[in-house]
Amino acid sequence: MYSSALGATSGQTTAYGSRMFVYEVVGLSQNTDNDSLDYPIRRSGSVFITVPYGRMNQEMRRISRMGGRIVSIQPVDAETPLKSTSNGSSTAKVAQPQASNQTEKKRKSMTQAKTKIPTNIYRQKSPYVGKCIENYALVAEGGSGIVQHVTFDISGGDLHYLEGQSLAIIPPGTDAKGKPHKSRLYSIASTRHGDKVDDKTISLCVRQLEYEHPETKETVYGVCSTYLCNLEVGADVAMWGPVGKEMLLPDEEDANIIMLATGTGIAPFRSFLWRMFFENNPEYKFKGKSWLIFGVPYSANVLYKDQLEEIQTKYPDNFDLTYAISREQKNSEGGRMYIQHRVAEQAEKLWTMLQDPKTHLYMCGLKGMESGLEEGLRDFASKQGVEWPDFVKQLKKEHRWHVEVY
Ligand SMILES: Cc1cc2nc3c(=O)[nH]c(=O)nc-3n(C[C@H](O)[C@H](O)[C@H](O)COP(=O)(O)OP(=O)(O)OC[C@H]3O[C@@H](n4cnc5c(N)ncnc54)[C@H](O)[C@@H]3O)c2cc1C
Repeated sequence: MYSSALGATSGQTTAYGSRMFVYEVVGLSQNTDNDSLDYPIRRSGSVFITVPYGRMNQEMRRISRMGGRIVSIQPVDAETPLKSTSNGSSTAKVAQPQASNQTEKKRKSMTQAKTKIPTNIYRQKSPYVGKCIENYALVAEGGSGIVQHVTFDISGGDLHYLEGQSLAIIPPGTDAKGKPHKSRLYSIASTRHGDKVDDKTISLCVRQLEYEHPETKETVYGVCSTYLCNLEVGADVAMWGPVGKEMLLPDEEDANIIMLATGTGIAPFRSFLWRMFFENNPEYKFKGKSWLIFGVPYSANVLYKDQLEEIQTKYPDNFDLTYAISREQKNSEGGRMYIQHRVAEQAEKLWTMLQDPKTHLYMCGLKGMESGLEEGLRDFASKQGVEWPDFVKQLKKEHRWHVEVY
């Protein structure tokens, strides 16, 4: 029942359209820093906020931004008297839930919906049109290629997402057959709260595809990546999603997160790391260990370098940063330093971390990363008496193996 509520856009007419729901929220405090809420906070610490169906998602995000945690959601019966507040929501005077078996059951099932993953809020046939508000270069002088950080304003609709999801972009125009261009997927590089932590933006990290045509030898530029990299601020862009459940960050604050990235594969990890270290989220305080192994051709291609190094400096106990810079660093055999060489160098430490059931392994970027990881860890695993395919199977079974390569 509630999943359809989450996927709904405001103004949608459904059976729930006129319904009101009561959120029981804990952890809110009234101070000048939160949105000058005037919800009465009870001695129990709970606040009951009544929300019309069409504002459920928006209100959820606002509560989370203010440090609140929703512990139950219940439909309000029509007789419940409501008192309006300045922000358009309502406080329910009599919303203290009566714990009958029936309501208790309902409360449980709806509370679980809190972790529901938003997918396809917008679809290809009815995309959201976001406005580009920022587009800046990420490759420093001396680096190769063009990679841009592109941010869109999404405040006009109901598009929201979680770290690790992707966004589909529909480039304008038609292909060689005269058909509209197909959409392309991009990993979302911002946290669920967006780069401005106001729940109003979404950011991508896009490399312009450029290659030499194998026959004509002409330089070919990718359709969508070129469109995005050249976007002017103010441009409208058709997008849909979000999509993907494979790369989500676990809810557990004490999880350990190993991240292997090549190039723009950093995008989901930027969203993870910003959530863990830059946003002071009251509902999520990362307490585990995280480790990013980042492969790029040149040091000038280390995307988001300053911030990554800032995290390393500020949180040395919670974040390790290892670069594999193929054209500048040498591996132990004198060849180019790729991720698999760093993995092999650090095999023991990685292996030990992976034995902990709280450790999740993520890979994002170029196809072939999985075999690189295998190359780096297989021999070490076999010395421990473990066959690599069995180990991977086990991690997958435990939902600790997360791969997105393209
Ligand atoms: C889940 C997912 C997440 C992604 N995340 C990101 C991201 O965060 N950032 C990012 O930049 N990209 C990302 N991508 C890739 C992105 O979706 C596009 O594929 C990419 O931007 C290229 O699209 P394009 O329209 O520019 O290229 P197109 O115009 O579609 O050209 C691509 C085509 O060019 C041809 N081609 C490409 N290289 C060569 C070559 N060397 N020689 C000959 N032919 C070639 C191939 O036929 C290929 O299909 C992701 C992909 C997926 C599936």
